[in-house]
Amino acid sequence: MNDAEALPEIFWEIHSKLPREGPGEDASTRKAFSMLADLPNAPCILDVGCGPGMQTLELARVTDGSITALDTHQPFLDELTTRAKKAGIRERITTVRGSMFAMPFLAESFDLIWSEGAIYFMGLRKARTRWKPLLRARGYIVGTEPCWLKSDIPDELRAFWREYPGMTTVENCMQIIGKAGYREVGHFTLPEAAWWDDYYRPMERRLPTLRFNGFRPHAAIEVGLPFSFESGLLLEVFPGLFPNPCRAVIIIETYYKYVFTVLKPIRRSDGVEFFAFGAVSLPYLTPALV
Ligand code: SAM
Repeated sequence: MNDAEALPEIFWEIHSKLPREGPGEDASTRKAFSMLADLPNAPCILDVGCGPGMQTLELARVTDGSITALDTHQPFLDELTTRAKKAGIRERITTVRGSMFAMPFLAESFDLIWSEGAIYFMGLRKARTRWKPLLRARGYIVGTEPCWLKSDIPDELRAFWREYPGMTTVENCMQIIGKAGYREVGHFTLPEAAWWDDYYRPMERRLPTLRFNGFRPHAAIEVGLPFSFESGLLLEVFPGLFPNPCRAVIIIETYYKYVFTVLKPIRRSDGVEFFAFGAVSLPYLTPALV
């Protein structure tokens, strides 16, 4: 998928006024940031697919740097601006409405590219290859990526992730990253709390309100949401609505997790390492994925 704006209105109705728009938590944002050893004191950071900006604000808290927050959905950017004003850090955050597929930035503009729960819109391989030129020397790319934990994936779940056929296991993920010319600084899996505390539970709390505001749960079925986790939550609020209760919750725990990866591009100046990974990288990128 490359145009989230084409999602049905009901999707955006569910996905608004939430603390964040995907699994994640401030503690994990800080943990990933703590792995960055040699950033400048006030780094220039790009947050791709920032949503309402929970991680943007946390990044602003842990650095003295400036952050450019990019998203296609203007209401999220407006929400981030409001939150940044409240936190007194508005002047360090610039919002840009735009797509990760055509980012309006000059080469070597950023010390750090961050992206939580959004890289999959573009695909891991393509993002790692296309975003690299935007990084300055000694820069990092950090983000979360959904990864399969098992090979026997239920059809419903494959259907849910059909827009991202590149989704793979953690091990393959690391191989792709190596072949795309990166060195792994570290990786870790988001804890269970990162799914619930600031994402699914707030969403769950909002659903009854939506109902009374004219939200039509059956429309969720019509537009194909029954395979999404959101429908699992709809189930809890509107019992009997979907045929397969609790399935979504089981799926979350069993079949995939989000993995935070902290990466550094291998540069020519890094010597032999570059050739070990970089020289063999391109043949692995099939035309469909480049
Ligand atoms: N990073 C935020 C978080 O963790 O709360 C948001 C994650 S949400 C799952 C994915 C975000 O990517 C949404 O805000 C969506 O609007 C944005 N997005 C989708 N397609 C995009 C694109 N082509 N370019 C930039 N952002 C995009």
